[in-house]
Amino acid sequence: MANRFENGIVVTLGEKNRVIWNATVVTDGERIAAVGDSAEMKRLFPDAAAVDCSGKIILPGFICTHHHFYSTMARGMGIPGEPASNFVEILERLWWKVDRALAEEDITLSAQGPLIDCIRNGTTTVIDHHASPSMRDGSLDPIETAVRQAGMRASLCYEVSDRNEAGGGIAENKRFIQKVGKGDGQIAAMMGMHASFTLSDATIEECVGIARDAGVGCHIHVAEDAADREDSLAKYHLPTVNRLHNLGVTGEQSIFVHCVHIDESEMDILASTGTIVVHNPESNMNNAVGVTPLLSLLKKGVLVGLGTDGMGSDMLAQMRCAYLLHRLANRDPRVAFLEAPQLLLQNNAAIARRQFGVRLGEIAVGLPADLAILDYRPPTPLSEANFLGHLIFGLVDATVDTTVCKGKILMQSKQILSMDEERIAARSRELAPRMWKRLEAL
Ligand SMILES: [Zn+2]
Repeated sequence: MANRFENGIVVTLGEKNRVIWNATVVTDGERIAAVGDSAEMKRLFPDAAAVDCSGKIILPGFICTHHHFYSTMARGMGIPGEPASNFVEILERLWWKVDRALAEEDITLSAQGPLIDCIRNGTTTVIDHHASPSMRDGSLDPIETAVRQAGMRASLCYEVSDRNEAGGGIAENKRFIQKVGKGDGQIAAMMGMHASFTLSDATIEECVGIARDAGVGCHIHVAEDAADREDSLAKYHLPTVNRLHNLGVTGEQSIFVHCVHIDESEMDILASTGTIVVHNPESNMNNAVGVTPLLSLLKKGVLVGLGTDGMGSDMLAQMRCAYLLHRLANRDPRVAFLEAPQLLLQNNAAIARRQFGVRLGEIAVGLPADLAILDYRPPTPLSEANFLGHLIFGLVDATVDTTVCKGKILMQSKQILSMDEERIAARSRELAPRMWKRLEAL
């Protein structure tokens, strides 16, 4: 069970990031046993199986703090009618039909596709948000099974919404939260909720009560589009964050996804309650909803993480998108160089720690052995001092060669070991057109 990932460049990250050339990470079982000079590690751990990482860089596995596995089968699907002209139409014409059209086997395959993509991109931990109203009860179980087979870590929840029968969604969350309990560091549970504009006060209160009793957080989309803010102001005479705060949704365990259309006072509530915000720049650009006030949120001390919102599973690409978006949005080439990597490398690790109770995002003795090993031969000197430059302009285009989670090699030499990639893709291609047909009839 012990491995020596040797002869690479190790980047430890963590509070005191170290860049160590010609270095080895030794894993034993699920944890990191040693980090150091390759010759010395070979002498100290001669029996560990050697995995040559020359020409490669060894980083902690990446974390995605907001994903939608269930969106997989929408890829390449034609959408009948006029193109959606705003966010609410995108939901009505696309996503609220995709989730309803999912059948039982689709749920497993929809999870397996992105899980493979995650492994291909060195993403070892995901916080997912699931919806499948026609196949709701027990739907989180096949996703859990898929995650465990993939060998990754995931926090799962079901999307409660009053557009569907909310009680059933609440029950599915409750069932899964009770089943997972405090979690085993691999699978965690949250209370999933769609968004303020599809949730009544009574529904939110019921969700919050269950989450509180179980000690888990709520995972909810917040002010993604101006429509969510306008709805809250019109119906409740409160901005979205204020409304959710009054109903008890805020708190250190809770994730408020997007927060594009929020004002100064809402940011203060997020900061004072320690509520997590997750930024999804590619998704926001794709839906043309606006720009999250990222720099203001960070200045106020809000813990902001980085997610994909189902757009993909490549966290380095998402990080660079954040970097570019906020430079352009602020018309300032001095910003986002530190902030975009901070979301991915530090803040996502802090969020994962709250959700899973384990310390991820760092290569250090005794910590979980989650690694992303990328092909990378730096064309210029690389050290702690200039690592971010290499991250944003070089590593973002590097290919992941080997992915390790909980000490297990999930992909080696670009071959997925934990899943049958060909069979999964073939079966998904077979079922997707049937799902599209069902969707057309909705
Ligand atoms: Zn989302």
